[in-house]
Amino acid sequence: MTVATEEHLRRLPKVELHVHVEGASRATTIKDLAQRHGLRVGDPADLYEFTDLNQFLSIYDVICASLRTADDFRRITYEALEDAAACGVRYSEMFFSPGFVIRLGVPVQTVWDGVRAGLLDARADLGIGARMILDFDKPSGPAHAMEMAAFAGAQDRDLLVGMGADSVERGIDHRAFAAAYVEAARHGLRRTCHAGEDGPAEHIAIAVRELGCERIDHGFRLLDDPELTAELVDRQIPLTACPTSNVMIANVIPTVAAHPFAQQRRAGLLVTLNSDDPGMMRFSIADEYVAVADAFAYSLEEMEALSLAGIDAAFAPDHEKAALRASFRTEFDELRREFGLPSR
Ligand SMILES: [Zn+2]
Repeated sequence: MTVATEEHLRRLPKVELHVHVEGASRATTIKDLAQRHGLRVGDPADLYEFTDLNQFLSIYDVICASLRTADDFRRITYEALEDAAACGVRYSEMFFSPGFVIRLGVPVQTVWDGVRAGLLDARADLGIGARMILDFDKPSGPAHAMEMAAFAGAQDRDLLVGMGADSVERGIDHRAFAAAYVEAARHGLRRTCHAGEDGPAEHIAIAVRELGCERIDHGFRLLDDPELTAELVDRQIPLTACPTSNVMIANVIPTVAAHPFAQQRRAGLLVTLNSDDPGMMRFSIADEYVAVADAFAYSLEEMEALSLAGIDAAFAPDHEKAALRASFRTEFDELRREFGLPSR
């Protein structure tokens, strides 16, 4: 067993599949955009200060209120990918959630025009592979979900690869979104859903069995249902786990070590490691790799395997995934040589 240094883990090539572009935004950028749009916000150093979910959500409202123009969305998308690339992320599937800003009067087309431009610029400048997933807002209901499925369906599949669902989970009738997911599937969109984060495993069951979801975001409560766990192992339906977010935002566990992450991996589930809202949490995907290796005493071999699991779980085309695997293995070897460790 090889133990990796923090620096080594930070530099491991990574894939990220669960990160929200709004939650990845920099406090300094939000402050700048808010001022430009005539909104009053405090010191950027305190802007992202929160201790519970309610405070988190009120900061989220400030972020969304600061995003008005296509160029605002271009900027946060580009910067989120710039920050990810600095953490070793080579491929990212990032969520954007137009539901919040649509309510504030910003058309979804404006949001997408900006996000798309940021994505294309980041691909060209940063050498990062990236695609977007449109998340509809669950509390906005099935008609909003259907509208988002139709909109996403009409865009370039290479840039907008899938549809997901986020925001609160409790008190939501997940079955009501079945038609929207059928519409998404009809357009060839890949399907995922936030489920079992602070809600029951039953929501995960509905997502995979009735909504046709191919991936589950969080899935924190999955192990509560052994039969469903066996089904996800069998079908290798990935979970995009965000342990630190579950500590800081959902408040379902006191520490990362209390997360069922290691247990889920031992059960044979395809679990990936993600940051969720790195800007707002001031905790990046590189920090997350360090935290998880520390919490579960993972070896370098295990962390490399975790990094490769992100490729397995991605919605990228097979040829792209094969190329990523090959380049990750090369990078693993180069890093081992640089840190004076035995080769794999
Ligand atoms: Zn999330």
